[in-house]
Amino acid sequence: MGQPLRVTLDLARYVVGQRLRGRRRFPLVLMLEPTELCNLSCTGCGKIRQDAAVMARRLTAQECFDAVDECGAPAVSIAGGEPLTHPEIVEIVEGMLARRKLTLLCTNGILLGRVLPKLRPDPRFSFVFHLDGPREHHDRMVERRGVFDLVMKGIREAKARGFRVTTNTTLYKGADPEAVGQLLRELTAMGVDSCLVSPAFTYEEVDPAAHGIFLHRQEAIALVRRVVQAAGPGVRYYNTPMYLDFLLGRRTLQCTPWGNPTRDPLGWKGPCYLLTDAHYERFEDLMNRTPWEDYGYGKNPRCASCMMHSGYEASAVAAMRPADAWRMLRWIFAG
Ligand code: SF4
Repeated sequence: MGQPLRVTLDLARYVVGQRLRGRRRFPLVLMLEPTELCNLSCTGCGKIRQDAAVMARRLTAQECFDAVDECGAPAVSIAGGEPLTHPEIVEIVEGMLARRKLTLLCTNGILLGRVLPKLRPDPRFSFVFHLDGPREHHDRMVERRGVFDLVMKGIREAKARGFRVTTNTTLYKGADPEAVGQLLRELTAMGVDSCLVSPAFTYEEVDPAAHGIFLHRQEAIALVRRVVQAAGPGVRYYNTPMYLDFLLGRRTLQCTPWGNPTRDPLGWKGPCYLLTDAHYERFEDLMNRTPWEDYGYGKNPRCASCMMHSGYEASAVAAMRPADAWRMLRWIFAG
């Protein structure tokens, strides 16, 4: 199942409410980065190579709550940096759940033992483990041996304690589609609730020496097709069927970066989770002052290879057709 039915119904109610109010642009998932510090330095990550000004700061728990209250998104993805390095991470998660937000806590798994005994399972809460592929591939991408085994151990422990677990697999050039497909099957057999698969995207902060590992759009589509084919029909994807169609090259979408607004220690980051052209003090300024028409595929050269879920998952939901309803129901109930 993509997520529990009651959570899906809350999200659907929110989207319908926004449409009835005539709002053309509204947030769906707050991308919250309480800290950009991390205990890894993954090859394809630009977040940890940002300006010293952002690396030196972190959001307090209260600032995180203010951000979600200010934007009103029904879901929050707590990312970073590695959020488990934040001293108030348990309070932040609990505060989001107290606000009835669908709460996704992204982690590389290394510090899981710090928070696992302090958190309680909740249908609105899921860990999201970063897992780019099988052992050798994942450890190479995160530039540290042994991390794959820690993630798999963490997944088992989290599931044993009754938590919902999602995995996030980012595809880079050189990923072996057969091996990634096999891993997705293995994760599903372990009881992982859903697997997110999406191609990586290169943005300004990524180390220029790593640019060769990023896929162009047609390469990404070809790789996703091979991974999905190798994984077979039993895998439960976190990707909605419409977003997966887009990744498989079966549907054209334009990004909706305002659907996943980003709040980091410097403010509201525009235009999106990946590109940083401005920081705004208020969410309203991000929405009203960002020149949205300057961004997206075909409009901005920096967007040419982006197929990221943070830019397109909200587009996929917005572009849902009546014929997609049955597939969405299957996705919700059966995975
Ligand atoms: S396509 Fe959209 S989400 Fe992707 S980098 Fe460009 S503005 Fe951001």
